[in-house]
Amino acid sequence: MELLTDDTPAGIRVGCLLQFALALDAVDSHAEALKRIQQAEQLAVDIGDLRWQRMALNHQAYAELQAGEPQRAWETLERLMAAVTPPGAAFDLALLRLEEVDTLAVVQIALGRYAEAEQTIQRCLHVHESSGVADYYGQAEFLLTLAKAQRHLGRTDLAQQSLHRTSALCTEHDLADLAAQALQEQAELHAATGDHVRAFQTYKDFYAAVETLRSAQLEAQARTRQAMFETTEARTRAAQFRDQARTDPLTGLRNRRYVDEHLPGLIERARTSGANLTIALADLDHFKRINDTLSHAVGDEVLTTVATLLDTALTRITGAGFVARLGGEEFLLVLPDTAPADAATHLDDIRLTIRNHDWRPVTGDLPVTVSMGSTTTAGATDLTQSGLLADADRNLYAAKHAGRDRVVNNPPPHSGARRYRDAPKPG
Ligand code: GH3
Ligand code: MG
Ligand code: MG
Repeated sequence: MELLTDDTPAGIRVGCLLQFALALDAVDSHAEALKRIQQAEQLAVDIGDLRWQRMALNHQAYAELQAGEPQRAWETLERLMAAVTPPGAAFDLALLRLEEVDTLAVVQIALGRYAEAEQTIQRCLHVHESSGVADYYGQAEFLLTLAKAQRHLGRTDLAQQSLHRTSALCTEHDLADLAAQALQEQAELHAATGDHVRAFQTYKDFYAAVETLRSAQLEAQARTRQAMFETTEARTRAAQFRDQARTDPLTGLRNRRYVDEHLPGLIERARTSGANLTIALADLDHFKRINDTLSHAVGDEVLTTVATLLDTALTRITGAGFVARLGGEEFLLVLPDTAPADAATHLDDIRLTIRNHDWRPVTGDLPVTVSMGSTTTAGATDLTQSGLLADADRNLYAAKHAGRDRVVNNPPPHSGARRYRDAPKPG
């Protein structure tokens, strides 16, 4: 199965699904393999790609045959034949590729339609021999199928000839699995001619060959399983790295990278839906003092506690929003689908939650408060991430300038900084 340079992404996906199905087949997950093949076919039909569609149908028929469902396999092949026949024309074997013809013959044998199978395979061999393509495996496979059909038809001499040709190709080109199948067919043929002693001896040879193949196959299976396991592992690890790269290590909050990836989409959604989006920048007040008076470690503890308080509060307000640490002691709060007045109330509640938290065990007499500057998409002139962040930053500056521990909203409920409700400090 090869990808072509002109394959579209969807075509490549079909190819990958089929490849994956082969891998699943190799580890005996036949039902899973069949599911992937059917997905591949549906996708190929959806994108109108006949090449991939017939590849999927051929695989499917083979898989169904191996699952002991020759009638189903036949129905699948009928779909394949219909797909390759031009509208209004009659089906012709010449429309099929070699591997498709072989599947057809094998299914015909499984259905007991030996004469048809013989015709099919003779035609196939003829085409193959005149094509000049050196596909020894394909040729050996056809000859083996032919031998089977001839045996069932009672033409044991012809069957023996076909089988000799099969074995010769297998020896010459080292085709171990077909060689084993040829031994099985040889035993059947001996039995068909009444030579039961040789049939028994050849069956023993067949089982020995299968044993050897089986251990090689088990090794290959183990390698395939390992490869599939490593792929899954790598994918999980890549997802972990991706999350890690978007997480602030100190607080566990989202970081600026996450903001850059997600905020523009939320702004765009607000713009098209008309639902309001509020963002707020929150900056700790006189944080340097905590570091300087107490220690950097205490400063870190304050940052992680503030992060938890912000995150808990925001999750309670809206599951659709998030909090990020932009750096240092500055945080971003994002509240989608919230009316501006409600957002202003929520933000002031959050400010009070931080101010009223019992900080004494951590900072002693030093208070911990935040200033916030917010803005909303409703009424904003520059509806971009940088435009909204600049508005919020301007309001944060105003909040600091007006004395800190307050929220300044945009549009401001009143001109200038407005201090909302003050609650007495605990203790
Ligand atoms: P203002 O009220 O004007 O915001 O004053 P401030 O002291 O909070 O602001 P300033 O920008 O002067 O100081 C911020 C301090 O935050 C300085 C820096 O050492 C500290 N800081 C930044 N990142 C961290 C961190 O990860 N851990 C700790 N402990 N401190 C940090
Ligand atoms: Mg600060
Ligand atoms: Mg700051």
